[in-house]
Amino acid sequence: APLLRFAPSPTGALHLGGLRTALYNYLYARKTGGKWILRIEDTDRSRAVPGAVDGIRNALDWAGLDYDYGPSKGGPHAPYYQSERLDLYHSYANKLLDSGHAYRCFCSPDKLAATREKLARTGSNSTYDKTCLHLTEEEAARRVRAGEKSIVRLNDGRLPVRPPGFDLVFRNLKDAHASLPTDPVLLKSDLFPTYHLASVVDDYEMGITHVVRGEEWLPSLPLHLDLYAALGLPSPQFAHLPILLNPDGTKMSKRKGDVQVLEYARRGWEPNAVLNWLALAGWGVQHDASSSSPSPSSKQAPDSTTIMSMEEMIRNFDFSVVTHRRSVLDPVKLEFINKHHLMQLMSSPGGLQSLAERAKPYVKEAYPDSPHSATSHLERVIFALQGRTTKLSDLPSLAPFFFREPEYSSAEAQKMRQTLSDDHYDVVIHSLLSRLRGVSASWDVPVLAEMLHDENAKSSLKQKEYMTILRHALTAMKTGPSVADILYVLGPEWSIARLQALI
Ligand code: GLU
Repeated sequence: APLLRFAPSPTGALHLGGLRTALYNYLYARKTGGKWILRIEDTDRSRAVPGAVDGIRNALDWAGLDYDYGPSKGGPHAPYYQSERLDLYHSYANKLLDSGHAYRCFCSPDKLAATREKLARTGSNSTYDKTCLHLTEEEAARRVRAGEKSIVRLNDGRLPVRPPGFDLVFRNLKDAHASLPTDPVLLKSDLFPTYHLASVVDDYEMGITHVVRGEEWLPSLPLHLDLYAALGLPSPQFAHLPILLNPDGTKMSKRKGDVQVLEYARRGWEPNAVLNWLALAGWGVQHDASSSSPSPSSKQAPDSTTIMSMEEMIRNFDFSVVTHRRSVLDPVKLEFINKHHLMQLMSSPGGLQSLAERAKPYVKEAYPDSPHSATSHLERVIFALQGRTTKLSDLPSLAPFFFREPEYSSAEAQKMRQTLSDDHYDVVIHSLLSRLRGVSASWDVPVLAEMLHDENAKSSLKQKEYMTILRHALTAMKTGPSVADILYVLGPEWSIARLQALI
């Protein structure tokens, strides 16, 4: 069965791009009955950020992407922190030294910088002059014994020419060796491996079948294939995921705060909606059978808001659906997708209650003194606002009148009130009040709607004016749910009190 890995470096918060990578790993593993690993690539000690691993795990947790093996879960390939696997990398480096596929380099960082500069000035695209390649084994051994610092480099001249490689998304690759550094570093002077050595060794040691990661690693693929070849090991399959763009065409990775996954959690987006949105960024296949045009420009647009549940994503996913085209991650589409996920959740068993529980903190934050934050009340509020709610955290501002008294003094309310005649206003409220007392025992939306219809007819006002009076009286806002829904959510006592206070 396939085995995949998501291998973030703990250099900061998990971003949307990283979450998309984790998601595609997850989808493929779940689809194929395989497993996936969370592997922490913490070999660059200068870039490690304390707490980053917890942040990454919390973000995956929020998204519901549960890995099979990894930190705090354990598994047959433990440890899952690269910093705890140094011996392994050393033994592979030694293998490469023994076979002549690698050599020790004693050049100081200053000397290396000077060499690089000199080579660049002469128009060469090599980055190192291979001085240390020519040291004898005895000389190198002597300098190691003498305590000199060294690094280990790949001897790329030793490698046979091999085909450029294949990627499940980018297909046949061009030979990109020219853009690699000369004799790339495998082991640093602090005895930590570079990303390249550690990732190749671990992918092999852990038995990874599919390496799924961002396009930014595609240029490193020739080097990784060289390493597999030099070690005489089979390589896994690769799937590089296209770069994500902001709607303005800039790379998404360049944005800071607003691409952090936990920021989306904090702002009240639905995890499955965010995953749905991310899944579609890079998902190149039409779901919409009516638009069969294969042209690149029309391909993204019609299906980039397809609503998919997690089951559907798993069922439909395959590397053949992933496009190599850069994909725009448009926040406006997330709003659309989120709204639909909310509606689906509402109608799923227990969904309304769990939404109400999750909405509670937002209500409490916005109205700390409101006595109207009981789960049962919030369930009714959420139901009444379905189709209007973009995300849960919007509830308090969308319908403040469900949590506190209406603000009749607001500019919006005053403007509304000016269009309504005082006489009509009083008559409508009086008449309704006497009816409401009568129906309080059978308080339900159909009953209320019928009663309103009746009252409206009795008043001989146009429906629009009649409803505007009640909307003003009950909410002091121009828009909102239907008046019957509003009365229903407020309940008999609160509705009556609110209207009573107006006369
Ligand atoms: N540690 C790399 C990163 O944080 C992962 C690259 C890979 O998956 O091989 O992006």
